[in-house]
Amino acid sequence: MRGAVVDAETRCVHYRTDLDVIAIEFACCGDFYPCHLCHSEAVDHPAAQWRTEEFQERAVLCGVCGTLLTIAEYADAHACPSCAAPFNPGCKLHWDLYFRVPLG
Ligand SMILES: [Zn+2]
Ligand SMILES: [Zn+2]
Ligand SMILES: [Zn+2]
Repeated sequence: MRGAVVDAETRCVHYRTDLDVIAIEFACCGDFYPCHLCHSEAVDHPAAQWRTEEFQERAVLCGVCGTLLTIAEYADAHACPSCAAPFNPGCKLHWDLYFRVPLG
């Protein structure tokens, strides 16, 4: 895990409500960051987005239980399918920063 992480459930200095418990693997560098701001502050390249063909990549980490979700699973999820931790619905507003995959 990289970025400005502030606790063991992958909250960061930018997003740290109770619901901010996921981290996303970036398609450009293969590293997990809690958010797009953490990524842009840590590296000197633009973020790449996952493509539709990569829908089954396990690129989303639940910080509560450590389960890796596929992008497809995360697209449909309002909570972790493994531990039921609720996910922040606001993250979907930033979907296109991470994924070039149709939402829902
Ligand atoms: Zn990157
Ligand atoms: Zn962040
Ligand atoms: Zn979980």
